[in-house]
Amino acid sequence: MLNRADIFEAIEGQLTRSAASAGHLAVMMLRVEGLREASLRFGYAIGEQAHLRARERICAALRPIDRVFSAGDDRFAVVLPGLHSHNHVLLAAMRLLQAFERPLHDLPCPLQGRPEMGVALHPDHADTPDLLCRRADMALAAAHARGESCLLHEPCETHDEIVYEELREAIEANRLSAYFQPVWNLQRNTIAGVESLARWTSPRQGLVSPASFVGFAERSDLIQALTRWSIGTTLRHAAMLRDAPGLTFAINFSPRVFARPGLVEQLMDLLEIWGLPPSVVVAEITETALVNDLDAIAHAMRRMRDRGARIAIDDFGTGYASIAYLRRFPASELKIDRSLVCDLTCDPRTAKLVQSIIQMAHHMDMATVAEGVEDQATQDLLTAMGCDYAQGYHLGRPEPAGDFVARYAGPTGGESRVSGSS
Ligand code: C2E
Ligand code: CA
Ligand code: CA
Repeated sequence: MLNRADIFEAIEGQLTRSAASAGHLAVMMLRVEGLREASLRFGYAIGEQAHLRARERICAALRPIDRVFSAGDDRFAVVLPGLHSHNHVLLAAMRLLQAFERPLHDLPCPLQGRPEMGVALHPDHADTPDLLCRRADMALAAAHARGESCLLHEPCETHDEIVYEELREAIEANRLSAYFQPVWNLQRNTIAGVESLARWTSPRQGLVSPASFVGFAERSDLIQALTRWSIGTTLRHAAMLRDAPGLTFAINFSPRVFARPGLVEQLMDLLEIWGLPPSVVVAEITETALVNDLDAIAHAMRRMRDRGARIAIDDFGTGYASIAYLRRFPASELKIDRSLVCDLTCDPRTAKLVQSIIQMAHHMDMATVAEGVEDQATQDLLTAMGCDYAQGYHLGRPEPAGDFVARYAGPTGGESRVSGSS
């Protein structure tokens, strides 16, 4: 693995030093194809020898002031200070390619290593060790994908790349915030829990709602990190309300996150760490057009439910979340979409439909949650229809999770002070 602390320190040291002497600093991520295969074919001991031989080659091809770090079986991170132009880094890359023209020797069998390199430069491409390394890493991935031996970081030009980078950094640096919106128990007229909703304050765009960035995260691989962030942040706040038992915390799960294994275990581990029972979690899940592995999702949901978490089908009635979904998933709650709820008091057909959904859900031992309740008349009608829970601006807008926790965990306890009708 990349010895992050060492390499960051080396870069940091150079950045401070080169401020006066100017010039570029390059961070190069270098992969020597063939080293990993040597480990797998001949054993780790031989793999390590091959790695050492490759490291010697790299050091010999570079200047004494350049620093070389091992960063995995077949990878190295190289710090090249004091370069006077971009061409100098390409020169270094040429020398490295030449160094590997001969097979590596002193091994049980000769090994032909082939280097691939990705480079990011200070100050042109990034100004922190972290970003320099990541951009060099991305350039290496691009070089590999395109079959090139060396690529410089290409500054993000498209809107998507900018958003991707910004959002990735925001998630990693924990710069998103969790907002909590109360979920109201209609029949008892008390708060039942909250739904956790992400907000992102982007340096360029200000406060961005998840309607804008969740879809983007879902189309890229960022949805995994976003979901992990959301679970972690929600449970951290939930733990502060441990003394207010009975509250549930709904977390949004994109179906795509179940494509990779391990999420259910991570959720359970975090619950244990925070000393919370699984029953405080409601996993909200919406069907989306992109999902193809329904069995994997159903399996993950069943495991969550078996361990005591609750499952809600989100956005029911939007066309995505359909009857077919209901049949396959072991949900405990059905969230009736805002588009149905907002027409409730003015359209008798919609009212009949919502009434039928509530009855059907109850027949199937599911509770119902109405979303988007914006006035008292709608709240009253839903209560009369037997709907169990509701959520909406009329019952409480999403607010920073910390504010909610402070208010709810305050000296006189919570439910009367979490507004039910403001
Ligand atoms: P959702 O799960 O359907 O969340 C409810 C959305 O309705 C929220 O929008 C909420 O602010 C809004 N809302 C609540 N009450 C009312 C109301 O009375 N009237 C109106 N007009 N809107 C109301 P938000 O926060 O913009 O979230 C949008 C969607 O983004 C969410 O829809 C959810 O699918 C997704 N999302 C939010 N946070 C996360 C997250 O951390 N992870 C994932 N995977 N998705 C998230
Ligand atoms: Ca939701
Ligand atoms: Ca919803």
